Amino acid sequence: NPVWSGLRVAVAGLGVSGISAARVLRDLGATVTVVDGGDGEGLRARAAELRAQDIAVRLGDGDTLPEGTELIVTSPGWPPSSPLFAAAAAAGVPVWGDVELAWRLRRPLESTGEPAPWLAVTGTNGKTTTVRMLASILTAAGKRTAAVGNVGVSVLDAVLAEEPYDVLAVELSSYQLHWAPSLRPFSAAVLNLAPDHLDWHGSMEAYAADKGRIYEGNKVACVYNLADPATEALVREADVEEGCRAVGFGLGAPGPSDLGVVEGLLVDRAFVPDRVRAAAEIGSVADVNPPAPHNIANALAAAALARAYGVDAKAVRDGLRAFRPDAHRIAEVAVVDEVRYVDDSKATNTHAAEASLGAYESVVWIAGGLAKGATFDQLVTGAAPRLRAAVLIGQDRALIREALARHAPDVPVYEPAAGQTGAGAMAEVVRAAAGAARPGDTVLLAPACASMDMFKDYGERGDLFAAAVREL
Ligand code: ADP
Repeated sequence: NPVWSGLRVAVAGLGVSGISAARVLRDLGATVTVVDGGDGEGLRARAAELRAQDIAVRLGDGDTLPEGTELIVTSPGWPPSSPLFAAAAAAGVPVWGDVELAWRLRRPLESTGEPAPWLAVTGTNGKTTTVRMLASILTAAGKRTAAVGNVGVSVLDAVLAEEPYDVLAVELSSYQLHWAPSLRPFSAAVLNLAPDHLDWHGSMEAYAADKGRIYEGNKVACVYNLADPATEALVREADVEEGCRAVGFGLGAPGPSDLGVVEGLLVDRAFVPDRVRAAAEIGSVADVNPPAPHNIANALAAAALARAYGVDAKAVRDGLRAFRPDAHRIAEVAVVDEVRYVDDSKATNTHAAEASLGAYESVVWIAGGLAKGATFDQLVTGAAPRLRAAVLIGQDRALIREALARHAPDVPVYEPAAGQTGAGAMAEVVRAAAGAARPGDTVLLAPACASMDMFKDYGERGDLFAAAVREL
């Protein structure tokens, strides 16, 4: 390949995404050096493996540009403030993320002569769920497609697939958007914007600006959340192709360019034949799994992107009905003694926990872990009327205890497993929650915090919760 042959590329980060980028670049004929600031045993083993495959690796220095570097391909984890990028800027060397690389490697489809369009999704919460719903809808419409991103197929694998996809449902993080200057999705949605990852981006403004890049160059629709003005502001600032429309989604009755809900039906008023301008029924709230308010919003966003791509109403309904949520996202584990147990371990920030707490009437809330700099006053104030009790866990539980004392002093608080970790801790927590619950209540694991102080990850936290519930 004449473009890539001999091009000297530095790949930043010897992780999963860096290794896969390095292999792709080597296959294209580039001369690749992977750099990483670490030098531990695990990294050395990986380095040895790559060196055996004609990929150079430099450990113990993630800050300086390897001699003669013409392009950097970076892993999402690397902070933009890294000295490596300052060196790149000074030397005029471009920096791409894996998404930019994938975007440039797209190949035209035989059927259209154009690469498969990308229907892109970002937001603070709901990305994975929404792209999976969207892929389910596109599949119901008979398209060859994939949910691309964190869950499912990686973005590089998706564009290089042996049998090409017709259309892709792509989840994009703010990190990936930051390093994808030439990305131009067919249509895109920003689901919501709440503070998260501010340590990486430096400020809320920088985080929002990176999210907003997803709308650049959109062809048909910029989809935004009617309940979140910050998402609409990003649409207004975006430079899009002529004829591209702003399309809102929300839980109320839709305006003339929106998707919304009317008497339990999902209704599209944006993508209906121009002269008719009638509303199209595209499904019902009961088709959404689970039918919690924030998840209905996710379904409407997925439907908007599918409709912008030309999918008919029946495929939207069939696709939503066929969709099964991922583990640990408001997953009902069991009903024991008329108490429902729900695993929303993936609620690792306050915005996500707020959504699931809002979905139940009377809740015994299991919360806590690593707060990542968050504050809990707003979350606790909103949830207070629904709380039967709170069971607090993890390193930063005092922050939640204090917020409860300020805003919900009548809610009983239990801290059964202070200082413990793993299965034993979770068993005690679940027993305490069961003791506090009354028939009709929901025991909800929605910790609003990361899990790594007590568990391997949010998956293990959720699995141990489910196991402890089964012991009851
Ligand atoms: P992401 O891929 O953005 O992390 P997920 O679909 O994996 O999103 O969901 C992450 C968490 O956010 C889950 O706990 C879920 O309950 C919650 N969540 C999902 N959709 C929304 C939404 N639209 N608004 C707020 N919280 C949400």
